[in-house]
Amino acid sequence: MDNNCNTQKIYLSSPHMGGTEINYINDAFSQNWIAPMGPNVEGFEKDLEAYLQSSSHIAVLSSGTAALHLALINCGVSAGDEVICQSLTFSASANPIVYQGAVPVFVDSETDTWNMCPQALEIAIVDRLSKGKKVKAVIVVHLYGMPAKMNEILAVANRFNIPVIEDAAEAVGSSYNAKKCGTFGMFGILSFNGNKIITTSGGGALVCKDIEAKKHTLFLATQARDEAPHYEHSHIGYNYRLSNISAGIGRGQMEVLEERVEQRRAFNALYRDFFKDVKGVTVLTEPSTSFFSNHWLTAVVINQEATGITKEQLLARFAAANIEARPLWKPMHMQPVFEAAPYYGGTVAQDLFQNGVCLPSGSNMSASDWNRITDVLTSLFNNSEKNNTADAVSESL
Ligand SMILES: *Cc1c(COP(=O)(O)O)cnc(C)c1O
Repeated sequence: MDNNCNTQKIYLSSPHMGGTEINYINDAFSQNWIAPMGPNVEGFEKDLEAYLQSSSHIAVLSSGTAALHLALINCGVSAGDEVICQSLTFSASANPIVYQGAVPVFVDSETDTWNMCPQALEIAIVDRLSKGKKVKAVIVVHLYGMPAKMNEILAVANRFNIPVIEDAAEAVGSSYNAKKCGTFGMFGILSFNGNKIITTSGGGALVCKDIEAKKHTLFLATQARDEAPHYEHSHIGYNYRLSNISAGIGRGQMEVLEERVEQRRAFNALYRDFFKDVKGVTVLTEPSTSFFSNHWLTAVVINQEATGITKEQLLARFAAANIEARPLWKPMHMQPVFEAAPYYGGTVAQDLFQNGVCLPSGSNMSASDWNRITDVLTSLFNNSEKNNTADAVSESL
């Protein structure tokens, strides 16, 4: 392996098993629970409830996108309604609004956390309501694991009695004022897709405030069967429940979640150390001790004038070294598919997209991976004194 380790691709974020996942899968096989129900499904929900340390009730589902869809249905979003959504995010935050026949209204970010700007949110709500629109929900995202300014966001939304849905797909393990992301809103959604901090290969969860909301979510997620000896339906249903096999992976991953958070945070600290003397590169950093990020991905903004380097140059160098790096999410209000959607704010999200890059952040990166990454960065930013060696990685992991 050593000889061709230079040719092995380093991914932005790849699955990182803890080792016990297979035991839960074997249990499922030995008991023939090969179904979207079973002991792993219920066990995974209990594990998540314990981890979130709140009174929340969790429904595990086939994806984070499915969880958002059911959150919107639970909030009564239907055709013609409007839902306000952070613009700087992955499209899965916004697509379920359209599944419901509702209209997404996009809002800009603020520069501290890169998440929804509370002032822009307020302006958007006031303007939509003044136009006679029904604003049924607000979707706020904890991008790259960084908690949004939840106190301010909730204060604005509460003033207008609009429920907040927290997209914590990237923020499992993050917290704000020592409360876990996903537990602030009327609903929270988590994702266990293959690239997230923990994975079930594919999966998600809806965090509900009370047991009634969870029950209704499970009813909808399992084809909305009314109680009757035959198949009786008074609601449109979905096939959104998580498989007992996937949930088994999730149970194993819960055993290593804290470790994964610490590993991602350690790489983030190494990046911050690397860039602290590089003029013109800003690393997305917790604005204060109120914010605890899982640092799912380390993201940086490159000031082209100060560094003489463009985002494109950096991406090309990484690609040439067989290392994955990626631009930030392209804001939704700049996407062709959402061209007609209203937008409130300035150019914060747009500027971040213009100059921002996500760097490899997987918890399973090795010391030699880290050396390959810093070799690229050092050659680009001419940062020859910096000497983030394999030892530094071993020490901090
Ligand atoms: C991954 C992701 C989702 C969707 O989760 P899936 O489980 O992939 O459906 C939603 N929002 C954000 C911000 C994400 O990163």
